[in-house]
Amino acid sequence: MPHPNDPSLRSFIPVDPASDFPIQNLPYGVFSAADSPQRRIGVAIGDFVLDLAVLESEGLIDLAPAYDVFAQDSLNPFMSLGPPVWSKTRARISELLRHDNPELRDNKALRSRAVLARAGVTMHLPFHVSGYTDFYSSKEHATNVGVMFRGKDNALQPNWLHMPIGYNGRASTVVVSGTKVQRPRGQLKPPNVDVPSFGPCKRLDFELEMGVVIGQPSNMGEMLTEVQAEAMIFGFVLLNDWSARDIQQWEYVPLGPFQAKAFATSISPWVVTREALEPFRVAGPNQEPTPLPYLQQKGAQNYDLELDVSLRAPGMKAAQTICRTNFKYMYWSSVQQLMHHASSGCAMSIGDLLGSGTISGPEKHQRGSLLEISWNGTEPVELADGIKRSFLEDGDSLAIRGWCQGDGYRIGFGEVEGTVAAAG
Ligand code: MN
Repeated sequence: MPHPNDPSLRSFIPVDPASDFPIQNLPYGVFSAADSPQRRIGVAIGDFVLDLAVLESEGLIDLAPAYDVFAQDSLNPFMSLGPPVWSKTRARISELLRHDNPELRDNKALRSRAVLARAGVTMHLPFHVSGYTDFYSSKEHATNVGVMFRGKDNALQPNWLHMPIGYNGRASTVVVSGTKVQRPRGQLKPPNVDVPSFGPCKRLDFELEMGVVIGQPSNMGEMLTEVQAEAMIFGFVLLNDWSARDIQQWEYVPLGPFQAKAFATSISPWVVTREALEPFRVAGPNQEPTPLPYLQQKGAQNYDLELDVSLRAPGMKAAQTICRTNFKYMYWSSVQQLMHHASSGCAMSIGDLLGSGTISGPEKHQRGSLLEISWNGTEPVELADGIKRSFLEDGDSLAIRGWCQGDGYRIGFGEVEGTVAAAG
């Protein structure tokens, strides 16, 4: 049987070469439909969603001794079954969708129940988020922010090249793409005033990130090898780490971000599996000084994954691209972040979400936040119709897209979109 990543595979379901969801992708999500409102798990294929709960109940996918794993409102029970089951299931779904397999293709009654138009379904948060940790692992991003706030000579803090810097965020406010994001409130104290006030954030920003979905737990007290850490990664989503720059600036000393990041984090609805991204692995940047032994990696742990960000202000006819970059630039890989996370003895849980940190690249058009794009508000970005932005305003819609480009197909993530609503 051909590997599910084989570029020559075709499905009986027609898929446009520009689609994010060819048969080589098969990302998992949680959906419902108007006439069948119970949430269940599906896989995206072209413009359709394949209902895995139907296929499991009909015996076409057998996960014995586990059962009803797909008639669930989160991916956590499926993820708990572990990497060999993830691989086996993906291979079986690929087999069922192949153009030369009549099992599903020629069963009209089953197809009408199991293959639904994606345009007609509602997507939900794909997994129960157990914990959310956000990192700060793009050297270009950390340098840009450092230059703005501390000057060129002290841009990177002394610890930055020795470990992936991170903070513990809030799992409770992780939301799925399409959810409106209310402008946060907080304490504000611009440098030119003496006392803080409380009110709506005036410097609301996005952060372009990838999210890692942890599919296997680790034990409290245990460290992880590179091989163990990699095997725990179920897949990836697009992530927007909404940030209130003015709240952050006043509150972050000395413990780091708190309320500035706690009000919302948006993720894309489809979890692209680590296995689907396998053909797009690349080595990351050279790490100098050499990391401590517990952080060293032998494998190519970065991904050649293209990213773009578009912004649509109220009144604009179409969204406008404000950033184009690539996940491959990240200095610390997701595997290194996970090895570092567990290194103290911290237990990792199924459903943990790790934000990569803002992904910027070496070029100006590769900056992954408005803070960098507008250089702290001094160079507003010019949009259509004379509209300018330093930070996000109410009604602005921000969308991130991502994909790995193969030969004649792409492994895409769809998008994560959020529109800013006025502070309540
Ligand atoms: Mn972030």
